[in-house]
Amino acid sequence: ADEALNHAQRLESVGQLTGGIAHDFNNLLTVISGNLQVLEELPSLAEDPWGRHLVDAAARATRRGADLTSKLLTFSRRQLLQPSSIDVGVLLNSLADVLRRTLDQRIRIEVDVAPSCPPVQADPAQLESALLNIAINARDAMPEGGTLRFQASPCGELPGTIRDGLEAPSRQEDGYVVISIIDTGSGMPEEVKERAFEPFFTTKEAGRGTGLGLSTVYGFAKQSKGAVAIDSAPGKGTTFTLYVPRPNRSETTVTEAVPPGKDVPK
Ligand code: ADP
Repeated sequence: ADEALNHAQRLESVGQLTGGIAHDFNNLLTVISGNLQVLEELPSLAEDPWGRHLVDAAARATRRGADLTSKLLTFSRRQLLQPSSIDVGVLLNSLADVLRRTLDQRIRIEVDVAPSCPPVQADPAQLESALLNIAINARDAMPEGGTLRFQASPCGELPGTIRDGLEAPSRQEDGYVVISIIDTGSGMPEEVKERAFEPFFTTKEAGRGTGLGLSTVYGFAKQSKGAVAIDSAPGKGTTFTLYVPRPNRSETTVTEAVPPGKDVPK
């Protein structure tokens, strides 16, 4: 439990630090891209291919910078989320379709959603991007192919091992949906597993990984009042467990139930 708390505290302080830097950096980028837009519209630039080239390259670099800061802001939970109620079965099946078309054909993709699985309350775009980040890592861990499996089922409370590492309030009245993403890839040694959520931590060669994928997953889970955990060992594959809160019954409008014995009005 102490270890989980230390881990959470370390990520918390890294989050505050990166959040501050990312926020200031983003403001600078806004100024740069604003000026570039003015330059782009200068009439003299139309007759100046070299100038045009320089402005285009600077604009591309600014967009890359903005993408990077946006990921860091997600990690440090400064990104505004727009939660809504999401059908987990629909989401996972449509994601699986996309992955079947885009990932390596040697990777088998399975979806298993419990028939009674309730919806979750989260930002749909962010949830999808979290699942995509996890799926892409799974692909990278299975260069010879394997199986990537998505499972979802309801769950009342967070397991103690996770709850201990979270600041209060960690209890969600209406419970969670637990989404597991299971791969049959290389797995992670202990020292990688411990640092996997840190921004810029990567074991991939330069140019292949930014080390920001899992830090955005972590930030998303925390900001959505959920949690994420890794179970992994070398040669054993990896399981990511994402706990996403269910919509609060007290906050959603309750449609009146028809009393037993009465007909449903036409
Ligand atoms: P990146 O993918 O850019 O390296 P991430 O934050 O997404 O950054 O992942 C950090 C590291 O965690 C990876 O470099 C890899 O070592 C490890 N990792 C993540 N997912 C898996 C997985 N499914 N199997 C094995 N290792 C993984």
